[in-house]
Order: sequence, then C-alpha cells, then structure tokens
Amino acid sequence: MKKPLLIALFLLSFFVSHAQKLVVLGTLQDGGSPHMLCEKECCSVEIANDYVSCLGLIDENDHSYFFDATPDFVNQSRYLLNLSGNDTFSIFLTHAHMGHYSGLIHLGREASSANGVPVYAMPRMGAFLSENGPWDQLVNLENIEIKGLVNGQEMKLTNSLSVTPLLVPHRDEYSETVGYQIKGAEKTALFIPDIDKWDLWDRDIVTEIQKVAYVFLDATFMKEGEVARPMSEVPHPFIEESVALFGSLPLEQRNKIYFIHLNHSNPARVKNSADRVSVEALGFHFAEFGQTFEL
Ligand SMILES: [Zn+2]
Ligand SMILES: [Zn+2]
Ligand SMILES: [Zn+2]
Repeated sequence: MKKPLLIALFLLSFFVSHAQKLVVLGTLQDGGSPHMLCEKECCSVEIANDYVSCLGLIDENDHSYFFDATPDFVNQSRYLLNLSGNDTFSIFLTHAHMGHYSGLIHLGREASSANGVPVYAMPRMGAFLSENGPWDQLVNLENIEIKGLVNGQEMKLTNSLSVTPLLVPHRDEYSETVGYQIKGAEKTALFIPDIDKWDLWDRDIVTEIQKVAYVFLDATFMKEGEVARPMSEVPHPFIEESVALFGSLPLEQRNKIYFIHLNHSNPARVKNSADRVSVEALGFHFAEFGQTFEL
C-alpha cells in the first residue's frame, strides 16, 4: 500500500473510532412530568420538559443499549439511535414498575413489530413478561428475546463491555429490582434508579461509589413531607439523607454522583432553586437529558 494511503487510513481511523459512551435519556420518576392529575407549579409547561429515568449506551460498534424501557421509550430510542447512526439495540430492565419496562409495548405487533430485541432481565422479571399479557405476546411473537441475568454475575457483551446486575431492596410486587454496574473499556458506571433506603441494602453504597467512575442514584424525593401521601408507603433515600451519608466522602468522590429519577414534586428539579444549589455546592450533580459520559 502506498504511504499517503496508509497515512490517510490512519487519520481516518481517528474519526471513525467511536468511544463507548453513556447518554442520559431521562431523569424523572416513573410518572414523569406533567404527572397525572398534578395541577401544581411542578408540572407547569415551563418545568415539565424531561423524560422518565433512563440511561442509554452506545458501544464502540454502534450497537445501543437502553437501561430500562420507559413510557417515553419512543422519543428516547429515536434520540439515542440517531446519535449512534445504527438501529440495533438491546435493553436491560431494572424492575416491573411502570416507569421501567412499560415502553416495551412499542416493540409489539401494533407498533414497530420488532424482531428479537434482546431484553436482559432477572428471573422474576423475565417470568413476569413471559407469563402475563400483554407482554407474553412480545415473547411469543419473538419481538423480544428474554436473556436471563444472575445477581452479581457479570454479563459479558463484548470484549470491552460487561454489565452486572445487583439486587436492591424495593417494593417488589411483580419482579425483583436490580441496579446495574456498567463496565466499559476504561471506566465503570453504577446505575441505581430505585431503592428503598441505603441502609436496607446488603452492600455498602459508600464503598460501591468508590469502585466506579460515575454513579447515577435514586433521588426521587428531596425530603420528608414532600408529598401529601404517607411517604413510608413509597420509601426512597431522600436526597437530604444521601447528601448526609455521602458528605464525608472526599470531593473527588462526591463529584462522581449524579442524582436521577426525580419525582415531579422534587423541588431540586428547578435549576437555581435553593434545594438544588445547596446540593450542587457540595460537589454533587443532577443528571440532565443529553449528558454523555465516556466509558
Ligand atoms: Zn421508578
Ligand atoms: Zn407535578
Ligand atoms: Zn420502582
């Protein structure tokens, strides 16, 4: 091969090599915003401008992954697949609450009639989909193909990408609940959109944070009293509690933390609000739609 051609190919390789990247595709709790029957300021048109909590990942080969299939899956998948320039994807599910799996419905015969989309799920989650309508039709028509996961066991997807499910305590009516450790070529991320309370977990969240480069954590509510219903019915670590728990970590560790899965009522959704500014001043971040993170 002629030398100029070799140089050209070498230079071209810089432009076509795609690093793996995580993309924030939504930051809200399951019910989104506008939230059903909410007439308050939090769901006014000015504020309601995001999708339900979801991470996307574009791998080096342009295959995409979604961590949860939300009610906003149509828009979120369009965004990520446009970004990757490739329409092949797989889905990892955390659990069977409406914000995390109901988007699968768009893969069925009435919609995109997908062909064998790999859907990675824990045993109860997989059985729930296979044994209950309308989800069983997706399985029977092979719109989706359920791939089983084992708690704590690394699922190797490519030479430089693996995903490990970690069971977490949550209201497990229809399925167990997991968070995911997502390990790329150079960096690892931890994604836990839903968990009841940190001290109920059999792992120490402060230790887990220190093992990875990016952390996306359940920040459903700011504090006690935020919604009128008994908050013990819908337990989550309040941002206030997480900030206190992680406060002793050095700044470099706090900087890794991105709060996600915010309820429509969460005052920290509003940029420049006192609640948000006070949390950011301590080195924590709030995940925002479109943010990317190299793995
Ligand atoms: Zn949720
Ligand atoms: Zn609202
Ligand atoms: Zn949930």
